[in-house]
Amino acid sequence: MLAAAPATKVDINEAPLTPVTDFSFIPVADPVLGSDEKEALCEVIDSGWITMGERVQRFEEDLAKIHAVDETIAVNSCTAGLHLILHALGIGPGDEVLVPSLTFVATINCVLYVGAKPVLVDIESLDNPLMSLEEAESKCTERTRAIILVHYAGYLADLPAWKEFADRRGLLLIEDAAHATGLKEVGTYSVAAALSFYGNKNMTTAEGGAIIASDPDLRDRMRKMRGHGLTSGTFQRHNGSGPGYDMIMLGFNFRMDELRAAIGIVQLKNLEAWNLKRRQLTNLYRALLEEYVPEVVVPFDENTTSSYHIMPVILPGDVDRSRVIKSLRDAGIQTTIHYPPAHLFSYYRERLPSVKLPKTEEYSERELTLPLFPRLNDAHVERVTQALAKSVHCE
Ligand SMILES: *Cc1c(COP(=O)(O)O)cnc(C)c1O
Repeated sequence: MLAAAPATKVDINEAPLTPVTDFSFIPVADPVLGSDEKEALCEVIDSGWITMGERVQRFEEDLAKIHAVDETIAVNSCTAGLHLILHALGIGPGDEVLVPSLTFVATINCVLYVGAKPVLVDIESLDNPLMSLEEAESKCTERTRAIILVHYAGYLADLPAWKEFADRRGLLLIEDAAHATGLKEVGTYSVAAALSFYGNKNMTTAEGGAIIASDPDLRDRMRKMRGHGLTSGTFQRHNGSGPGYDMIMLGFNFRMDELRAAIGIVQLKNLEAWNLKRRQLTNLYRALLEEYVPEVVVPFDENTTSSYHIMPVILPGDVDRSRVIKSLRDAGIQTTIHYPPAHLFSYYRERLPSVKLPKTEEYSERELTLPLFPRLNDAHVERVTQALAKSVHCE
C-alpha cells in the first residue's frame, strides 16, 4: 500500500470523487452523499426510465413543499433556469438588466444569452456586500427592464425594498437564488427565482437547478420552453396523451433527468438540518474570529436571514492575501475567493469598458472564503480560525 501523501501536498482538484472523511485536508465545500443516494440511483437504473418521469415530478413537489410554494420547475442547472426566466419574460435586444458584479459569471451571462445588456452595479458596503439599491436606481435608464438579485453567500437581499423599487420603475424583479436553497422568502416578491444544485451548493443533484414562479401562465410557458417548446413530453406521450405533439414556441433542452431527481429527493430530506448546521458553524466562526483575530471582519449583520451558503471574511487592508492563502493551504486548509469582480474579467472588460465599482473591487481584493459545509465540526472551525489568526498575525 502506498503511504498517504502529507496533507499539505493534497490538491483538491486531484482529490478522489468520494468525499474526504477525516478532513486532514479541509476543503472549502464538500457535498454530503451516501448510501441513500446510491440506492436511489440504483432504483432509477432498475426502473428503466431515466429522464423526466415520476421522480422529476416528485422532486418538484418535495422542493415546492420545502419552499412553501405551489409548484417548482426542475431544470438541468441554475444557469439554464435564469436563461429560461429571461427568455420566457421576453427580455431581449435593446433591454438593460441590472446585475451585481460580485457574483458568479452565470448571473451576467444569462442576460447576454437573450441579447440584452447587463448593467453592473456596485455593492452596498464591505459590511453588506449585496447589490446597492441606490446605485441600481442611479443606473436606471428608459431601457432598463429587469433586476437580477443575488443572495450572496446565502444572505437574503431586502426583498420588500427591491420590490418597491421594481414596481415604482416598472421593472421585473428576478432572483438568482443559487446560494439560497431552503429559504422560504425566495420567490415571494420576485416574478421568478432560480436555485442551483451544483456540487458545492447547500444541496446537490451533481448538476441541476429549479425555478420558483408564482404566475401560473409564466410557469406553463417555462415548462414548455424547458422541453423544446413542445406541447407534450415523452413521459406524457408514454402515459397515453397520444403520439402527436406540436411545437408552439422556441424552447431549449433544459430538462432534468430521473437520476438527478432521485438524488435530489434524498438530499431535500436533509436540507433543513444541513442549513441549521451551517448556521451553527457560522456562529462559531463569528465567535472564534472575534476572539482570536478581531481585525478580520465577518460581513453581514448576524441577524440577516441566511442559508449560510459560504463563509466569507474580509482581511485587514494591509495583509497580503496570497500569503494567507498559502499558509492556510500549508496548514491543510483550502480557501477560495467569492468572487473576482465580473467587470474585471477580460470578456466583460471588452464589452462593458470603463465600468468602475470601487466597493466591489475593494471587497474582492480583501475577501477570503473559509471552509463551510455540514460535515465540518467545531474542532475544524477552531483549527481554521487558529490558522487564520496565526497567518494574519504573521507568526
Ligand atoms: C453556482 C451559481 C450559479 C450557477 O449555477 P449552476 O447550477 O452551476 O448553473 C449561478 N449564480 C450563482 C450566484 C452561483 O453561485
